[in-house]
Amino acid sequence: MNKVTTLLSMMSSSSPNRRQQSHGMIVVVAGLLLCTAVKTSAAEFPQFQLPQKEDGSVDFLVVGDWGRGGDFNQSKVAEQMGIVGDQMGIQFVISTGDNFYEDGLTGTCDPNFTNSFTNIYTAPSLNKPWYNVLGNHDYRGDAEAQLSPILKAKDGRWNCFRSAILSAGPVDFIFVDTTPFVDTYFKNPGEHRYDWTGVLPRETYLSDMLKELDWTLKASSGPWKIVVGHHPIKTAGEHGVTEELVQRMLPILKINNVDFYINGHDHCLQRIASIDSKLEFLTSGGGSKAWRGIIRPLDKPQEMKFYYDGQGFLAVRMHHYKASFHFYDVYGNNLHNWDVQKIPFINT
Ligand SMILES: [Zn+2]
Repeated sequence: MNKVTTLLSMMSSSSPNRRQQSHGMIVVVAGLLLCTAVKTSAAEFPQFQLPQKEDGSVDFLVVGDWGRGGDFNQSKVAEQMGIVGDQMGIQFVISTGDNFYEDGLTGTCDPNFTNSFTNIYTAPSLNKPWYNVLGNHDYRGDAEAQLSPILKAKDGRWNCFRSAILSAGPVDFIFVDTTPFVDTYFKNPGEHRYDWTGVLPRETYLSDMLKELDWTLKASSGPWKIVVGHHPIKTAGEHGVTEELVQRMLPILKINNVDFYINGHDHCLQRIASIDSKLEFLTSGGGSKAWRGIIRPLDKPQEMKFYYDGQGFLAVRMHHYKASFHFYDVYGNNLHNWDVQKIPFINT
């Protein structure tokens, strides 16, 4: 039974969660993305599905914090993504947010969309679906513009949502909208203005999202579970840990045996393990401006496996029982590699 069948079956059965019955339509997309499911409600995550490749692998790149019209080495990172993407035969790209600087998009007609996305990621290998979450800088503009099907009509690769599920072969990705968790954006926004359209009332939005995340993870048949958000849970980077996520989201990730949490926000490349679980925290936020020169000490320094303060991206190949990770810099140098294995037939 595949994951979607499993999910549908669970939805129609007397389930551990009655909300499943109102979960809405699962949008199944085979091969190239044929349609887009974009909802502004966090309570019902839209779902996408991509097939695994013939060899059983799922191959993708992760980049974050990038949209600067090609400046600050964005174009150079894009060029190397194109080369690595071609070598791997990637199926899609994940963006960890802060898609457009400094203040998101002004609307669906903002030329920054073309200047920072369409005209930058031009390599044939990157002509694949992009799955994008929103970052705090995106919320400083017209956040809903990035969710609009108008942008997908302009560039068919574009898929942006607040939260969503992507099932790809042996991997379930759950994308979560982390910006509304951060108190300071509401209480001390300073000179910045945030577009909270579709988010208020805030606590209802957050609690619904966390319930949906928990249910989705419980419904996932794995074997791999990856949660993607913009803000870090663990980091040595400039912004520090996001305490709101540590308090409210991390327990859900742990209890549901999530394998990896992937984020941006800090403009670096980073891998942090957990001494008390298998959960690893990966930062891929080096899509353009970097070199902040800040490395904060971790509470548990032995958990730090890799930190690079500069630009670059993450490349991932996942099979049913093995996942391989590769961090690349702006020159295409392979900075850090590691594998994670699972024991066959045991979904831990
Ligand atoms: Zn950010």
